[in-house]
Amino acid sequence: MEWTNKNIKSKTNSNKMKYQHSKDMIQHYEMDDEKENRDKSMVCKYCFYLRSVCGFSAMTTSYCGICEEPILNGSSDTNIVCDKCAGNKDLCTCCGGEMD
Ligand SMILES: [Zn+2]
Ligand SMILES: [Zn+2]
Repeated sequence: MEWTNKNIKSKTNSNKMKYQHSKDMIQHYEMDDEKENRDKSMVCKYCFYLRSVCGFSAMTTSYCGICEEPILNGSSDTNIVCDKCAGNKDLCTCCGGEMD
């Protein structure tokens, strides 16, 4: 493919957009403006705002790293611990880190 000035411009533009988006997400992270929702889904700040893999993927089963119960919720295939253990130990269900 020929790499023209137009390609260069549009690449540069999209890089700026991505930067802007990351910056926005970091701002959300710092303000934690969705704390209520975040607490409800038991996900830490990093996973909620910056780690986009957690959240809304297809229905899969994984196993809790603490009690070994199957995790049946369909929101993510990367959950580390079940809601119950996360609640008991105040952990993020998504990465297994501490809640903020
Ligand atoms: Zn568990
Ligand atoms: Zn997390």
